[in-house]
Amino acid sequence: MKAAVLNDYGQPMRIEDVTIDPPRSGEVQVRIGATGVCHSDYHVIKGEWKYGLPMILGHEAAGVVEAVGPNVTGIQPGDHAVLSFRPACGRCRMCALGRSVLCEGHTGDRFKMLDGTARVHRNGEDLSVLARMGSFAEQVVIPAEQVVPVRNDVPMEILALVGCAVTTGVGAAVSAARVEPGSSVAVIGCGGVGLNVIQGAALVNAGRIIAIDLLDNKLEFARQFGATDTINASQVNAVEQVRALTGGGVDYAFEVIGNARTVEQAIEMTRAAGTACIVGMAPQGSRATFDPLALVTKETRLIGTWYGSARPRIDFPRMVELTVAGKLKVQELISRRYTLDEINDGFDRLGRGEVARGVIVF
Ligand SMILES: [Zn+2]
Ligand SMILES: [Zn+2]
Repeated sequence: MKAAVLNDYGQPMRIEDVTIDPPRSGEVQVRIGATGVCHSDYHVIKGEWKYGLPMILGHEAAGVVEAVGPNVTGIQPGDHAVLSFRPACGRCRMCALGRSVLCEGHTGDRFKMLDGTARVHRNGEDLSVLARMGSFAEQVVIPAEQVVPVRNDVPMEILALVGCAVTTGVGAAVSAARVEPGSSVAVIGCGGVGLNVIQGAALVNAGRIIAIDLLDNKLEFARQFGATDTINASQVNAVEQVRALTGGGVDYAFEVIGNARTVEQAIEMTRAAGTACIVGMAPQGSRATFDPLALVTKETRLIGTWYGSARPRIDFPRMVELTVAGKLKVQELISRRYTLDEINDGFDRLGRGEVARGVIVF
């Protein structure tokens, strides 16, 4: 099969012929229908997150089940499935709490199968796959616990985005921060995930939703997804502007970039008794600062959320239903489609902030 392989940091991926083994016990083979071009992959490409190379990236994906290995229940060939990039062993403390995103049930290499071996090879050499998935390939073999079957009448490009951007953004607003109806919200960073925080806040009837970005084209997208106000932070002080618009700060501020300075701004633009919610994923080793006295005297709630704090088996089908019902816009997020051969162009455009979401369609 064809796959995009990252051989060196800071270099384009190469489309290469690789081989894939059949699924072993507890594994599922999936023919990828669509896979998103997400910033998390971009961190690895740029070397901001360093893992072992060579590696097949790609963690936002959906496809059709091609084959199931022994000891897999509840998944059949032909099923349409959204893939989760986090494990869910079902037995650890975090899984028992309903917080499988934080699953700590597996200790092995996160870029190989659960038995520690690889299913994808290049001339006999094992290849690592991001998140035990590596969806920048025509097919994947993935642990069954990361495969969530869904209804089979929804376009693959929509299902793919449910696998990361939609669940991460909507979940941040709805499940992690629990935005209350009528409350005020600020969202710093209006890429694929940020737009979903905005529509998640709109879904639960937030009042004022203030979108903040450096690019006017992204602020225009933000209005289409429910932002009531926009701030171009390249022209004004975003913190002062949010305080002025809301009479002292927002009830909920979301940081969706992963930048230390904007994390600080999110805390600063939150009003007393408010919540600052960190969604963006920073480069490894970065540090942000805050004023601890202000955190106490404003009783600020500072929280992080990963993957929308989702329970994929519950939340993926719900996101799909909300989309079919017209309550979430997902097709509208997709501003560019690529073939696998065009993947490097896709990341270049992501880097330049040209797209809401780009998707590779097979
Ligand atoms: Zn992602
Ligand atoms: Zn677990």
